[in-house]
Amino acid sequence: MILAIVEHDRGKLNPISLECLTLARELARDSGDALEAILIGEVARSMVQVVGRYGVSRVHLATHDRLNDYAPEAWARTVLQLVARIQPEAVTVAGSDRGNELLAHLAALSRQPMAANCIEVLSGDAYRVTRQRWGGSLLEEALLKGDPKLFSVAPHTLEAQETAAATEPVTETFTPELDDKAFRVRIKERVERSADKVSLSEARVVVGGGRGVGSAEGFARLEELAALLDGAVGGSRVVTNLGWRPHSDQIGQTGTRIAPELYIACGISGAIQHMVGCKGAKNILAINMDRDAPIMSKATYAVYGDLHEVLSALIDELRRRKL
Ligand SMILES: Cc1cc2nc3c(=O)[nH]c(=O)nc-3n(C[C@H](O)[C@H](O)[C@H](O)COP(=O)(O)OP(=O)(O)OC[C@H]3O[C@@H](n4cnc5c(N)ncnc54)[C@H](O)[C@@H]3O)c2cc1C
Repeated sequence: MILAIVEHDRGKLNPISLECLTLARELARDSGDALEAILIGEVARSMVQVVGRYGVSRVHLATHDRLNDYAPEAWARTVLQLVARIQPEAVTVAGSDRGNELLAHLAALSRQPMAANCIEVLSGDAYRVTRQRWGGSLLEEALLKGDPKLFSVAPHTLEAQETAAATEPVTETFTPELDDKAFRVRIKERVERSADKVSLSEARVVVGGGRGVGSAEGFARLEELAALLDGAVGGSRVVTNLGWRPHSDQIGQTGTRIAPELYIACGISGAIQHMVGCKGAKNILAINMDRDAPIMSKATYAVYGDLHEVLSALIDELRRRKL
């Protein structure tokens, strides 16, 4: 049996978990295994039916008064206790920051190897995996052994698909034994972004700014354009390092991975570490004063010019059409 860990934040499902379930279901079908899932925290109970639509036949719901919020070691110890009892062939999770962190804890606790960010997994005594390395700029083929085999699924590399043969999953509840030490790492405080803002990772349009924007104030034009397109504003690492934008706005290898319909990249050169973060974008519109900037050859549309002038023209035209 294959066990999928379903990632959520206080009961809000991370949609990339559905991509992970889709890959795990295909793998289970090929190896003749069942697909089961663990939901951690009573708050996750509402997700039972959703995961059923993705082919999960049995849900293990871990309830504990301290498990409703994310705590990586406590979550990993919870999975470990379930694994000891049900002995799955493999354990998988979405390759998000949290998913990989959780799996790393599980790997260390169970002394098993793990493969992070897989895009393809073929069954066998050892799994043959293809996985992203170096932020996705390199694909590695590897054989994954282990008892159980541990792997995460790279985000935005396959489409989440419901199964035609969905049934209501059987739900089994259990309470793990967790001492205080398991909660050494936990969330103590949250700073919420204002509710009227579209989140960067889920936005259909992202307007990104780089060093070329010139200043924190320069982002006002990008905010204006994003508001007209119901989008979100992000930036390169240079702009977060310079303090023009908060780190939560950073797009890239060490920031947020975005997957919008359209990414408008203004004054961004297109360094590999940045491009890793916007690989999931369906279209890229690059605005740059340098024709040879790497992003210009990677973009769907490239506009050569001063971003301040181009943005003003774009905003004026959008306003005119909205009148
Ligand atoms: C381990 C590691 C992790 C990293 N992680 C990330 C990451 O997560 N995200 C990330 O973004 N970077 C990351 N970086 C940094 C990355 O290598 C680049 O340094 C960074 O992305 C460059 O940012 P930029 O494009 O804003 O700046 P620059 O490379 O300086 O590019 C500025 C661009 O603006 C253009 N420009 C200037 N003025 C204008 C104008 N008026 N109009 C139009 N165009 C103009 C220029 O032609 C140039 O192309 C990482 C680096 C390392 C080593």
